[in-house]
Amino acid sequence: MARVHNFSAGPAALPQCVLREAQDELFDYAGTGMSVLEMSHRSEAYRAIIEDAEATLRRLLDIPPSYRVLFLQGGATLQFAGIPLNLMRRRRAGYVVSGNFAKLAWREGCKYGDAEVLASSEASNFDRIPELGAVENRAASGDLDYVYICQNNTIFGTQFHTLPDCTDTPLIADVSSCFLSGPLDIERYGLLFAGAQKNAGPAGVTVVIVREDLIANGPARADICPTYLDLRVQAEKGSMYNTPNTFGIYLCGKVFRWIEQTDGLVAMAQRNRAKADLLYRTIDDSDLFQGTADPKSRSMSNVTFRTCDAETDEAFIAYARERGIEGIKGHRMAGGLRASIYNAVTMDSVGALTACMREFEASRG
Ligand code: PMP
Repeated sequence: MARVHNFSAGPAALPQCVLREAQDELFDYAGTGMSVLEMSHRSEAYRAIIEDAEATLRRLLDIPPSYRVLFLQGGATLQFAGIPLNLMRRRRAGYVVSGNFAKLAWREGCKYGDAEVLASSEASNFDRIPELGAVENRAASGDLDYVYICQNNTIFGTQFHTLPDCTDTPLIADVSSCFLSGPLDIERYGLLFAGAQKNAGPAGVTVVIVREDLIANGPARADICPTYLDLRVQAEKGSMYNTPNTFGIYLCGKVFRWIEQTDGLVAMAQRNRAKADLLYRTIDDSDLFQGTADPKSRSMSNVTFRTCDAETDEAFIAYARERGIEGIKGHRMAGGLRASIYNAVTMDSVGALTACMREFEASRG
């Protein structure tokens, strides 16, 4: 059966070899006589799976021992609450509102303390990453518990290409849609987190990487923080305060191994750069398609664009579907078109999309 070119924003394309391996192992995992789906999370076989997933991720990102790695549930969204509950010790934090998910995180932060908007690009419909000078100045005052950013804005197709310098104020980042697309300097962050369903695996796993000293004293709001969200408890229990998403973590581990076997994150970033360059070049060379993000803020993961009007956008989506191209409808908040070109989306798929764009444009005369 032919597989489509899948440009979905998440859940998104997974590496085919990972799917095949999981298929092979589904009925009887490594001679255990059972599927990972049926296996106790406390079993020796499962312990090896989760430990290998963490160890591989640590190698890939060169995560220092002073950081804890957690595999949690509740999506990236639950961490919008988990972060203030754990870290807003003086009840004052700063948020950069660069898109809808950053805004949702800020709103959640407002429930627990003084969540200041340090910069926003909402006035221009989140078409860019805001200027960071004011953010850095505010961070330098030293009275914020953290500065929060969403590093890649999945809906609007923008990305931080440099991180704000927050001096000693911990930087907290939602990296959901750029996680594992290239190397990260972990020590720049106090905490980073990602829903897995883009580059890391299936939906239902959230990876949290947190500097240990930030959680060592327990949650800032121990009185009201649900135990599940208590990052110290989760770290002490090895992400097993309760039953984790066993199968999801197993698949993430396979994706981490795949990245390692395909030469790691530097090589991954090079391939992603080549894919993004081809797609943006095709958009920029076209008289019909146009990019919607400010060129300086363009995302390497989610490429947002449109045609001359909504009707033509729809016609292009239908034209592409006939050619085996799926998932290019823009998010309802942004409209237009979006191609998510995560790690498992091949250059071949991006080539198919760009060829389709050129043919569509030519067909209109
Ligand atoms: N942050 C970003 C950047 C996202 O792209 C998404 C979802 N696509 C979320 C947060 C919300 O993630 P989840 O659905 O896992 O809660």
